[in-house]
Amino acid sequence: MIVWKYHRGEWTETEDPLVWNKDDEWKTVLSRAGYYDFPAVTYGQEPCVAELYMKKGDEPPYLITFSLSDSIEHVYIDDLPSLMQWVRDYTPLLLLQQIADEQEELLTLFGRAFRAWHGHSYTNVCPVCDPNQFKKQQETHQRLMEMRKTKQRSEAER
Ligand SMILES: [Zn+2]
Repeated sequence: MIVWKYHRGEWTETEDPLVWNKDDEWKTVLSRAGYYDFPAVTYGQEPCVAELYMKKGDEPPYLITFSLSDSIEHVYIDDLPSLMQWVRDYTPLLLLQQIADEQEELLTLFGRAFRAWHGHSYTNVCPVCDPNQFKKQQETHQRLMEMRKTKQRSEAER
């Protein structure tokens, strides 16, 4: 299997150093190659996740697995500066998506709680929850009604 090597910003293809025997599990393959069998850090969340695996004793190469839906890519990083560069360049995309997803979940949760609490959507302005905005809306409505009346009057006078 062809995998990636990342060194100081340069991507090259390389042969995967991990050895798979028949019926091997991921944990077994990692342990055999000297890695901890769990990720040290996980960036992002389904369906787009990167996991950083460290060798026991924190020796390079570091292994990043990058999964997008059903495909998994392996990226080997052979020193700390390259790892830091990779983290700096590629993890913000994953983390931004994660933050956006989590904010959407929070907004949904908040919206439901608010409706249960107040009996209306949090986007509706009501005199109890948001008296200032409610007053502004009333004033705008009033102004529009007066403009309409003035217009009707002037049309009637023609
Ligand atoms: Zn309300």
